[in-house]
Amino acid sequence: MVTMTAAVAARPGTEFDLLEIELEEPRDDEVLVRVLATGICHTDLNALSGRLPVTMPIVLGHEGAGVVERVGERVTTVRPGDRVVIVPDFCGACDECRQGRTSYCLKSGQLVFGGVRLDGSAKAAHDGDPVRAGFFGQSSFAPYSLVTERNIIPAAEDAPLEHLCALTCGTSAGAGAMLNTLKPEPHHAVAVFGVGTVGLMAVAAARLRGARRIIAVDVHRSRLDMALELGATDVVQAGPGVDTVAALSELAPRGIDRAFDSTGVKDVMLAAIYSLGMHGEFGYVTGTGGVPLDLELDRLLTRGVTIRGIMGGDGTGGLFHRELIDLYQRGALPIDRLVRTYPFESINEAVADMRSGVAIKPVLVFGER
Ligand SMILES: [Zn+2]
Ligand SMILES: [Zn+2]
Repeated sequence: MVTMTAAVAARPGTEFDLLEIELEEPRDDEVLVRVLATGICHTDLNALSGRLPVTMPIVLGHEGAGVVERVGERVTTVRPGDRVVIVPDFCGACDECRQGRTSYCLKSGQLVFGGVRLDGSAKAAHDGDPVRAGFFGQSSFAPYSLVTERNIIPAAEDAPLEHLCALTCGTSAGAGAMLNTLKPEPHHAVAVFGVGTVGLMAVAAARLRGARRIIAVDVHRSRLDMALELGATDVVQAGPGVDTVAALSELAPRGIDRAFDSTGVKDVMLAAIYSLGMHGEFGYVTGTGGVPLDLELDRLLTRGVTIRGIMGGDGTGGLFHRELIDLYQRGALPIDRLVRTYPFESINEAVADMRSGVAIKPVLVFGER
């Protein structure tokens, strides 16, 4: 049993409570990781606020990295002392996983959002009551995380874990949407709606694909400036009285070929879809929280457009994350420019800074233990 102070989401719409909880010892196929760094992602905030339904109390956090502390008897690929990056879990055995589409794992209801093992157990407890500690198979807003061999990948001895952890969810969602799904060609016009971490990494990846025109759309001027630094050729500052579709049509008169949304805001998504040109494709990575789109399908039919939901950047398990680490090391995905670190105990301050836009990518770091 590991006794530790974790950030627990106990009630929807509140802050995290720093609570002492007991984490179980690793089972035969599990790995106990001492967390050194973990990114905060909007999915964590959506879960905390209740927009994403999770069963509380739960330890959130799904962009962890650290050092292997102990391993179960059947674990063969890592040893105590190894540095690892933790990626979202998947079952490895369902139809989707067997076809390499692990981010669509049919067990993700349990392993990812459910925060429990496949047998339904919660991994942790507080005062004898279960606390879910398997969010995305990791629950990394805690000093220790219980994972499996499936959802860890090795990190070099000297690799900066406070940057590598931020390559897992948000970066894979944005970069993967461009590299694996939308795949813009050099002659394409790309528009990225919302340039937080996910959108900025989509911009950097569209640049890697050689897209001629990459337009970033956001309400924050500072984020648009960052988008220009990461490869955007043009920006549109959205806001009251701004007709985004008209502004995009001025920049790309034949319409947008590949539009990507990371906002989950209904009107933004509609603008993205209506900005598409002939055979344009729209990809999105977050829902609207139940708000329906009143989509005029007639406007889309004759353009032959495609609307694609994209989970986890359409990557395969840890393989795609290794590619992302490689791209980062070659300077093609400069996530380090977006990261702002906070001590773990300041998690609620980091969340507030993320919500207000002060921090694009907050990463919590843990002191020596
Ligand atoms: Zn699966
Ligand atoms: Zn995430």
